[in-house]
Amino acid sequence: MNHAARFWRKVKDGVRCELCPNFCMIGPGDAGRCLGRRNVGGELVAFTYGETVSMGSDPIEKKPLYHFHPGTSILSVATYGCNLACPFCQNCEISQEVAPTRYVAPEHLVTMALESGGLGVAFTYTEPMVWFEYLMDAGRMLKEHGQMVVLVTNGMINAEPLEELLPLVDAMNVDLKSIRPSFYRDYVRGRLGAVLNTVERARRSCHLELTTLLIPGRNDSEEEIEELVDFVAGLGPSTVLHFSRYFPRHRAKEPPTPVAGLVAAAEIARRKLDYVYLGNVVVDQYRDTLCPQCGSLLVERSGYTGVVRGISGGKCTNCGRISEVVT
Ligand code: SF4
Repeated sequence: MNHAARFWRKVKDGVRCELCPNFCMIGPGDAGRCLGRRNVGGELVAFTYGETVSMGSDPIEKKPLYHFHPGTSILSVATYGCNLACPFCQNCEISQEVAPTRYVAPEHLVTMALESGGLGVAFTYTEPMVWFEYLMDAGRMLKEHGQMVVLVTNGMINAEPLEELLPLVDAMNVDLKSIRPSFYRDYVRGRLGAVLNTVERARRSCHLELTTLLIPGRNDSEEEIEELVDFVAGLGPSTVLHFSRYFPRHRAKEPPTPVAGLVAAAEIARRKLDYVYLGNVVVDQYRDTLCPQCGSLLVERSGYTGVVRGISGGKCTNCGRISEVVT
């Protein structure tokens, strides 16, 4: 559906989109890199407004969000398109290509969320930031109906639209792919600086968890893990960090991440962070949530199921430490 886009201006031969740090120059009839914004008659149009490619109820643990209402579900929705070009994309059929869609008006999305009986809506699977106009409209309506708004995002958005969006967002999982600018610039065609700004602002505005997919030889050296962990620890030791196991997909040919490499990264992170988890692999000591003070079990997990075991009144039932897990 054509919907007026925000954050752009006319330039000599077309329009310049200013929603994300790609700053696409878009000629007449063309779309930007994310596929969702098009120059129609000299105006930028949000082409994918309300156009959904995927919708279903997921456990909140699948986002992954481990410290945000464990054991609940959330209606998960996506359009097609993305503003990065990761060779290892796990959802390349809908992130890098135009896909068949079904229009869901914002008010209809609210109705579906209420009927699903979950927390609210997670905008996920592809890149929600480039769905900005729909996020804003649907997000406002969801909040008016007491529903939660969750983003699973690469964090590639400029500061001004981010500030508009943040008051509507309850929780975010940001994919922090690397701490090296060269990884973003040369490997996934993005901008690390914008992602770090999103992470830092989200940490102060909503519930935040971070995920790093470890790719052998690309972002898994000990030095890089230490740099990444130093950045995350700078946000506070209670910041949640997930390391996820990579498997070959799309154009990436590297072998799967060795489990020993994931454990080594997690051990580095645990020296400075209270909550470190491993995803796409089962390693018992990086699955459950333990109290950082007394080691008691707070949340037990199995697959994508989370069960709160040791939190009552927002505190560890054993030692009384205030828990960072939102229940
Ligand atoms: S939001 Fe899309 S069109 Fe706009 S700058 Fe980013 S990639 Fe380009």
